[in-house]
Amino acid sequence: MPRTEIEQVIIVGSGPAGYTAALYTARANLAPLVIEGFMWGGLLQQTTDVENFPGFPKGIDGPELMQNFRDQAERFGTRFLTEDATRIEVGTPGEPHTVWVEDEPYKARTVILSMGAQHKKIGAEGEEELAGRGVSYCATCDAAFFRERETVMVGGGDSAMEEAIFLAKFAAKVTIVHRRAEFRASKIMLERARAVENIEWLTPYSVDAFLPGSDSRGLATARLRNTETGELCEIPAQGAFIAVGHEPQSAIVRGLVDLDENGYVQTQGRSTRTRVPGFFAAGDLVDHTYRQAITAAASGCQAALDAEWYLRDNPLVPTPPALAEAGDLAEAQWGHTSAPA
Ligand code: NAP
Repeated sequence: MPRTEIEQVIIVGSGPAGYTAALYTARANLAPLVIEGFMWGGLLQQTTDVENFPGFPKGIDGPELMQNFRDQAERFGTRFLTEDATRIEVGTPGEPHTVWVEDEPYKARTVILSMGAQHKKIGAEGEEELAGRGVSYCATCDAAFFRERETVMVGGGDSAMEEAIFLAKFAAKVTIVHRRAEFRASKIMLERARAVENIEWLTPYSVDAFLPGSDSRGLATARLRNTETGELCEIPAQGAFIAVGHEPQSAIVRGLVDLDENGYVQTQGRSTRTRVPGFFAAGDLVDHTYRQAITAAASGCQAALDAEWYLRDNPLVPTPPALAEAGDLAEAQWGHTSAPA
């Protein structure tokens, strides 16, 4: 039996943006449905201490923070579906939109996209096969498994420096492997990393392959290629950490909303509106600049307000003239309709 109810708001994806959008739309009595994904909670689920989220002077664990976000949204009536959205369809004008979870369609008048971003892969041989068996994308999560081991950190940005400094507290050695001789990382982060004794540097090299040991259980060697001469070399590495940036999880809306050349969803002006009426986007899916939990949460709040205003301004049943006039009056009194473009 196909579902017949039409939601006011469906939020696709979780993390600080999605859960904040849920909190605000729930408090606006819109009973949001969050299709939060199997791996709910976003990238903060993979971090330990979050020290820069305001309101927690002693810091808080990433997973605990995300549980708090979720609990707070639930308290006001948010419903959750811990599954991945598999397809999204834009409704014809005046009709609801549809978010599919496998064969199950969920209809909604507004959709807030907050699928976030994922760690970028480098596409080296063995990267996928050895993920979780030596290859990792999160030193904060996995560094402790590499006590006294030889490791590599791939990347030349601030993330690579930050992660290398953290990893160096556990590993015997961290070799930063970067494809260029110049680094994208800020001067201060580079200086901090250069001051760490057990961090070594190898440029200009890219990783050609991650190779398992003879028992084939886990990573043993990284095969590197000099990006200028093409020469190959191998270094021992029981752990390899990849910190080469992030990519937005926008595949499901490709062709529906505007994406920039890196796949980030484009929104209109200072709002969270996409070019599709009733579709809003927030968090790391949109933002490649700030990418903080606090900025993602703030944009989730903006998306909730934009969705709320959209629903108010686009009622399902045509408003009788008398009520429309009253609405104009209320608008004049309250002084806003929707966020400025
Ligand atoms: P990023 O600044 O974009 O740096 C990505 C690095 O990975 C670059 O050095 C890039 O090399 C390299 N790279 C990209 N694709 C690669 C590939 N396929 N193979 C090998 N190398 C590849 O990303 P990020 O370091 O994640 O930082 C993102 C933003 O967060 C930045 O604005 C950063 O300042 C900020 N951030 C700040 C802090 C902090 O201040 N504590 C910590 C972390 C992040 P090329 O340089 O050759 O392109």
